[in-house]
Amino acid sequence: MCLDIDDTLLDNAASSRLGLRALIGNDAAWPVWRHTTEEHYERYVAGELDFATMCRERTRAFFAAFGERLSDAEAAAREDRRMAAMQAAWCLFDDAVPCLDWLRAAGLQLAVITNAPSAYQRKKISRTGLAGVFDSLVISGELGIAKPDPRIFHAACESLGAAPHEVVHVGDRLDTDALGAADAGLHGVWLNRGGTEHTPPDGVSMITSLAELPELLVCELPFAPGIPGQNVAAPTPADRSQPDIGRPRLGALSG
Ligand SMILES: [Mg+2]
Repeated sequence: MCLDIDDTLLDNAASSRLGLRALIGNDAAWPVWRHTTEEHYERYVAGELDFATMCRERTRAFFAAFGERLSDAEAAAREDRRMAAMQAAWCLFDDAVPCLDWLRAAGLQLAVITNAPSAYQRKKISRTGLAGVFDSLVISGELGIAKPDPRIFHAACESLGAAPHEVVHVGDRLDTDALGAADAGLHGVWLNRGGTEHTPPDGVSMITSLAELPELLVCELPFAPGIPGQNVAAPTPADRSQPDIGRPRLGALSG
């Protein structure tokens, strides 16, 4: 079982908005920041910029969009302020821990597959209480390969000792995560948190919350070895209205 981190387990948009507030006093320009981030992060993932340079250049481009030109020193100072505020606000989605608890209790091996620099992402994992949750961390900054390259998915499968067809990958990006995983021979699950109306392509499943993942694994993906169809029940719709959504009930199924 593989999971993405940003905007899948961790509410990256919320912490980024708080970072933007630290930068300009409000988050009214969030659409501009997000667009600027998309452009610059793509260049980082493609290897055109290192992470620190990408962050600085993004901040410079954001202010340039409003007509303000920043010196190198000023761009760096503002980015440091934004980054500190954002990191202080890192937090998981409410459905992340119950889902991870269920997956662990079900005996599934867990890997992270994430496009980010090593130290930055390891700090994020540690600060949000996820250290020790995963059997392996597959981080693009360590491999020099990023999603949706099939090789990063295959590296994760290898780290779990499983063949691609035995592994499910869940992430918030249809293209990078779900389709990337499917193209690499895994089962791709698109976490469509926004509930965007979209029919997922063949070979890709869609959920709108991690609370739906246990039921998907048990009821719709029973072919995947290691998925707990025998001794761990998927939560029912009634369970999902309870605070302990998605928590396993060991032995609740008879057969
Ligand atoms: Mg993501």
